[in-house]
Amino acid sequence: MPEFGGNAFAGNEAADIVIVGGGPVGSALALALRDSGLRIVLLEARAAGGGDARPLALSYGSRLILERLGVWPALAATATPIRNIHVSQRGGFGRVGLAAAEAGFPELGYVVDYGRVAQALAQAAALTAAQCLTGARVIATHGGDPARVQYEYDGEQRELTAVLVALADGSAGGGASAESVDYQQCAVTACVVSERPHNNTAYERFTAHGPLALLPDNDGWALVWTTRPEHARQLCAMAPEIFLGELRTAFGGRTGDFIKVSGRAAYPLQRRRAQAAADHIVLIGNAAQTLHPVAGQGFNLGLRDAWELGEQINSGSTAALGSRAWLNAYQQRRRVDRSAGLGFTHALVELFSNDLLPLRLARGTGLALLGCLPPLKNFLIRRMTFGARG
Ligand SMILES: Cc1cc2nc3c(=O)[nH]c(=O)nc-3n(C[C@H](O)[C@H](O)[C@H](O)COP(=O)(O)OP(=O)(O)OC[C@H]3O[C@@H](n4cnc5c(N)ncnc54)[C@H](O)[C@@H]3O)c2cc1C
Repeated sequence: MPEFGGNAFAGNEAADIVIVGGGPVGSALALALRDSGLRIVLLEARAAGGGDARPLALSYGSRLILERLGVWPALAATATPIRNIHVSQRGGFGRVGLAAAEAGFPELGYVVDYGRVAQALAQAAALTAAQCLTGARVIATHGGDPARVQYEYDGEQRELTAVLVALADGSAGGGASAESVDYQQCAVTACVVSERPHNNTAYERFTAHGPLALLPDNDGWALVWTTRPEHARQLCAMAPEIFLGELRTAFGGRTGDFIKVSGRAAYPLQRRRAQAAADHIVLIGNAAQTLHPVAGQGFNLGLRDAWELGEQINSGSTAALGSRAWLNAYQQRRRVDRSAGLGFTHALVELFSNDLLPLRLARGTGLALLGCLPPLKNFLIRRMTFGARG
């Protein structure tokens, strides 16, 4: 978990905006508001340190936002560029290659681990005028004008009032859940090394149990292997050489033999969409929508949530901030991008996590067709890079 510096907050006071959650999306919002002149307080439950080694594939569009937020230089040195993406299905024909050069981008994306992204954003946020408090766990939020946030800090219960509360507390957060689907799948992440170099190519391979992604990461690969929960448990516990054998069987021989694995971890997967039921409360990032990691869209979408919320706050008068009309305008602004992100990833999971022969044939035909239709490929790349616009 990133460390926060900065200004200690006395509590039981009033702020203009309270951000609940100092993960990458909450910190990005604090940064986007650095010149707003508003009094911002960010509350993060975790004390400090730690972090999470899950790989994040950042789109080129996210890089542009991170540049505007001033944090890209801190990430660039450890970010591995993705220049090609190869998509295929196990046990079926049809494959498609996407290339940055074809789409006119310098790179299709970048692989960085979650901990680094979260830390770079949190450290930059702590240098703004925002008051960033770690070890502050929010226990309740109440809508209204003003909204109220109750939290625990240093063994005490405290309360803040705010014109706007931005919930960026992730999937387990306090937003009212509108719908959720348990995929009955887990993602196993790990660092693996293969005989052949990655040449900045990412692989997405669809198997009957779920998609398997190999992302270029420094001198090796970041693996995101989606499978049944029981299989995920076994994959995390088995001896390294057995794991590498299973990976070989699932992925095939495109990268040569796999020779090393480290840092295995498993994440249960769900799809969730939530909405704030109260005035003066807005949801962003995983608190608003949690996606399956296939196609690596969750953080990219959440970063656009934070960026666009920042733009709406920075460009409008503060008089209407958080009102029903103001919240509706934000919902409307984000509706198409959010629905497209949720719909696209969910459709991929449904369509590809199935071994029925007719579906395998249809998928193969779809991949082959996509490979033959450059305009469609470019449309897909643009959508994955910049999201969908209304
Ligand atoms: C295996 C895996 C691979 C992924 N790969 C990709 C990828 O390649 N590309 C991509 O774009 N996305 C990817 N994602 C999705 C991405 O990780 C999330 O979309 C992203 O982390 C969301 O960020 P967030 O800040 O909204 O939420 P989080 O990262 O969950 O952060 C929420 C923060 O809120 C804090 N918090 C929670 N409750 C409270 C409370 N009560 N009080 C105060 N603070 C609180 C937490 O401590 C945490 O710091 C992946 C996800 C998984 C599981």
